[in-house]
Amino acid sequence: MIIPVRCFSCGRVIASDYVAFKNKTDIIRKAENREPTSEEIQRIFEELGIKRYCCRRMIVSHVDLIDEVLEFE
Ligand SMILES: [Zn+2]
Repeated sequence: MIIPVRCFSCGRVIASDYVAFKNKTDIIRKAENREPTSEEIQRIFEELGIKRYCCRRMIVSHVDLIDEVLEFE
């Protein structure tokens, strides 16, 4: 729904990194018309300084549904 502000496991702030992650993956999606590969996703995480698996799973497993749910307000 909405990205949690902090990682559930370690407490690192991840909400601001999610925006940067989404921008970088959207660039690949639009420029090359495909989903980013796992190597590209790993490189983006390293650029953003997200090292722990607990923080990575917060971003990778997030589904952004808020814009679709708002229509049924
Ligand atoms: Zn974490």
